[in-house]
Amino acid sequence: MDIISALRPQLVDTFGRTVNYLRISVTDRCDFRCVYCMAENMTFLPKKDLLTLEELDRVSSAFISRGVKKLRITGGEPLVRKNIMSLFWSLSRHLETGALEELTLTTNGSQLAKYAKELSTYGVKRINVSLDTLDPTTFTRLTRWGKLDPVLAGIDAAQEAGLHVKINMVALREDNAHEIEPMLRWAHSRGMDLTLIETMPLGEIEGDRTDQYLPLSQVRERLSKTLTLTPLAYKTGGPARYVRVEETGGKLGFITPLTHNFCESCNRVRLTCTGTLFLCLGQDHAIDLREPMRHSEADDTVHAAIDEGMRIKPKGHDFVIERRGATPAVARHMSTTGG
Ligand code: SAM
Ligand code: SF4
Repeated sequence: MDIISALRPQLVDTFGRTVNYLRISVTDRCDFRCVYCMAENMTFLPKKDLLTLEELDRVSSAFISRGVKKLRITGGEPLVRKNIMSLFWSLSRHLETGALEELTLTTNGSQLAKYAKELSTYGVKRINVSLDTLDPTTFTRLTRWGKLDPVLAGIDAAQEAGLHVKINMVALREDNAHEIEPMLRWAHSRGMDLTLIETMPLGEIEGDRTDQYLPLSQVRERLSKTLTLTPLAYKTGGPARYVRVEETGGKLGFITPLTHNFCESCNRVRLTCTGTLFLCLGQDHAIDLREPMRHSEADDTVHAAIDEGMRIKPKGHDFVIERRGATPAVARHMSTTGG
């Protein structure tokens, strides 16, 4: 890190929250079309609108010079972006200097068998794999055309490469409510924690989310009938609340944006693949970083734009799924802001 950047102030918003976690969506494309995430026919962005891998490295490095310690690469499906390993390779230099504490990834697992070893070489230690079902037929229906086996092979490869895997499962009333306990036992038997996620009203999809919405308070109550759930103080810097499942010894997390407000401790911002910095997952407040980057080779304008982002970061979001057919709280899809 040069002297100038070492002198730049840390990122603190107007509510006194320190921002030290950046999530970057490196592509809006995906090899799946999960029913709660995307419409079947998506129009993806033209290539010229995307930040190049060099620009992604540059903007990440700017954030790291401002005190960002944790970087999560997501998408769309990050591992379908061409040459994505070169971004992991270049960012790994910040792990070596200690400026960055964690470089991590959220993936659907379809390409993991190919990339797990390389990710581990570039300093990735933990990854999140999204998996909503262990039933091959349900898997193909929920992803619209995905296959379960390559994902399971990807998880095997990740564990063999020494990556710590956490499973993320979106809880869906109709489709996988009955699979939550089996999924938990399967994940814990393999040394993987499980986090359950409530569906969030992001982006237009074909179905009706009120049919899919399953409050995690209900899930927790149901699981407590057969399992002993001990609340834990453990936090990962994310919005999940954790319990230990005494029978399995593993951790179970709950991400409940709709029934529990986690905004007061928010430490994160999100960058889209086109360089738009969203200050809150559930609000439209945003700043463009692509134009300042393309405007000048020096980073001053980028830092000024990031500072402006801190000024407008909202206090919190306001997700509600209440009325049938209501328009989503935020029109963009999760694959745009990357979850
Ligand atoms: N493609 C990668 C994956 O699936 O892990 C990374 C991007 S995906 C958008 C990130 C996470 O968001 C996944 O765990 C997915 O299940 C979750 N997700 C997508 N749409 C959602 C929604 N409407 N509500 C809640 N979670 C959602
Ligand atoms: Fe793709 Fe992930 Fe969205 Fe599923 S949740 S469609 S895998 S981006």
